[in-house]
Parts: sequence; C-alpha cells; structure tokens
Amino acid sequence: MDRIPFIIGNWKMYKDASAAVELCDQLRTTIRVVGDREVGVAPSFAVISLVHQHLGRSRIRVGAQNLHPEPEGAFTGEVSAEILVSVGCTFVIIGHSERRQYFHESDQFLGSKLRAALRANLDPVFCVGETLQERESGSTEAVIRQQLDGALGSLTPSQLSRIVVAYEPVWAIGTGKTATPETAQQVHRFIREYICERCGMQSADRLRILYGGSVKPDNVDALMTQPDIDGALVGGASLKAQDFARIVNYQV
Ligand code: PEP
Repeated sequence: MDRIPFIIGNWKMYKDASAAVELCDQLRTTIRVVGDREVGVAPSFAVISLVHQHLGRSRIRVGAQNLHPEPEGAFTGEVSAEILVSVGCTFVIIGHSERRQYFHESDQFLGSKLRAALRANLDPVFCVGETLQERESGSTEAVIRQQLDGALGSLTPSQLSRIVVAYEPVWAIGTGKTATPETAQQVHRFIREYICERCGMQSADRLRILYGGSVKPDNVDALMTQPDIDGALVGGASLKAQDFARIVNYQV
C-alpha cells in the first residue's frame, strides 16, 4: 500500500506574528508541495489565522498543536476543534510529550481530544513515545501499548482509520539524539501490528506513522528509507525554512 508521506513542522511556542509571516514567506518560496508528499505546519494558536492567510495557495497545510475536547463553552483560555477549523486548520497534534509532561494530560483525556478532532473533521496526529528510563528498563512496547489502548480504545475502526500516529521517543525530542532508523522502524512496526490486531490489515496498511525526535536535514533520508516510517514531525529544524525544506525534500 502506498502511503503519502506527511512532514509536519511543530513550531511550539516560537514565532510571534512578524516572525511567523517571515517564515511563511520563506516557506512559500523554498517548499514546492508536489503530489507525492504532504506538508503541514503547526504554529501557536495566536498566529494560526495569519499563517493560513500567508501560506495562501502554497498547499502547505495548517494545523494546531492542541485543542480542547468540548465544541464550545466556558473554558477560559482553551480552543475547540470547531474554532480551529474556522481559522483554516485541517489537522491537530494531540498528546505531544510536552503536553503529557507539563500539563499532565492523561491517555483518557487525550482520547476525548481525538474524538473531538474527528467530530470536527480535523485529522488528529496522535503522539506516543517512551522516556529514556522506560527504554532502558525494556518497557518501550508496553508503554506505547498503554498509550494506544488508553486513547484509542474507545474509537471505532472507521474512526481509527482517520488518525495519523507520531512515534516520538521523549529522549529524542529537542535533545539532538535521534533514534537510529532501525530503532525507530522497530517501534513503527509494533504500532502497525497493534492497529492490525485491532482493526485488521487494511487499516494497518493505510495508517501513516510519523517519526519525531531531532529530525534534521542530515538524518531524514536514512529515517525515510525505513518501510514503516511515513513522514516526520519536526520541531527545532522546522523553524528554519532551509532546513525544513531539505527535510520535506528528503531523498530515499
Ligand atoms: C517535536 O516537537 O515534536 C520534536 C520532535 O522536536 P525536535 O524535532 O526539536 O526534537
């Protein structure tokens, strides 16, 4: 099955309005989105609208880094899936390790965010990954299984077929340490097998699994040669147009 690779830049809490516009202008000239890959950026909530306008007809997708599960209501400081759609988002990152770690988001809560994204027709990019301690103690697969069970457990096979999973080992995020292509491949294969057990071969075959954790211009090619790596979730290197463009234009 041919899965269209998806490369996403997670801008985290970087790029104010003028820096975001500048980066959009650079991305428009350096990134040419062709049919064989999808590209997206996830700016901070405050500049999503601006980024959407400035990316214009570039075909670079705009997404968010988080959402609140309710469609609307008295939830000061929160943003719903419906509001995200209204400002041009087509995907949303859910369960990033920084949300799990600093904002104590549980797997169950993340499950409700996944359902909210699906309700509003946003593609959820669901992040999973183990800490260094968990890897060293040999519990990587158990941890990933628990994260998948907790959040995906209540989804139907048809809902599951609409999600993208991002494997992001916590020890590789923002540290400059990348999982070797073989290490990443092992976990990606495990995730695909999990989906196969739950929903069958066809859904598993269709599922896009992105790798995230210090993806850079000099390691993306090797990562993308692996059969179960279907794209990348890129933090630091997505803040520089040249680096992000090189990652998008990976060569295998
Ligand atoms: C991320 O924020 O999802 C990420 C993978 O960051 P970095 O590429 O900087 O490790």
